[in-house]
Amino acid sequence: MFKKKNEMTCAQAQSLIDDYVGGLLDEESENLFNHHVYGCEACMEELKVNYSILTALKQLDAGEELSENFEGEVTGKVTAYVEKKRLHRILIRVAFGSLFVICVIFGMFLASVSSVYNDVTYSKNPEDTTVNFVYDGVPDYLDPVDKAISKYNSSAVNYIHSLKNSE
Ligand SMILES: [Zn+2]
Repeated sequence: MFKKKNEMTCAQAQSLIDDYVGGLLDEESENLFNHHVYGCEACMEELKVNYSILTALKQLDAGEELSENFEGEVTGKVTAYVEKKRLHRILIRVAFGSLFVICVIFGMFLASVSSVYNDVTYSKNPEDTTVNFVYDGVPDYLDPVDKAISKYNSSAVNYIHSLKNSE
């Protein structure tokens, strides 16, 4: 039969029933045990019987009143465990899913921003518009041509001011 790498066999699960009922299993074994029993009717039956006997004996020993529904108790315990784990897995998946969506949206945002600003065309010769220089880097103040133009413009303005002042 198909068996996942970390799954328990029926023999392994049944050998752990006493320890499970006594709460003696480590986390890893308890996890595998719960998942096996949840999906295996035979072992669940075995667990119900053993749980009922062991718990009844313990309750008699302690002079406690006997539980009325041993089977329901143990099935509920296994089911609650497995469902909690499943919910946990779903939450992790949702978290990673949202992270993925956020990354995609951010990526699309970056792609759209860079395509909007790409390719600024400057003509090298105002007389001949076929001779162009195309800048496709980061725009505005990081664009060297833009920088050179504004520097030229401001020195021209300063020069005109200085001519006016010397009149
Ligand atoms: Zn089994």
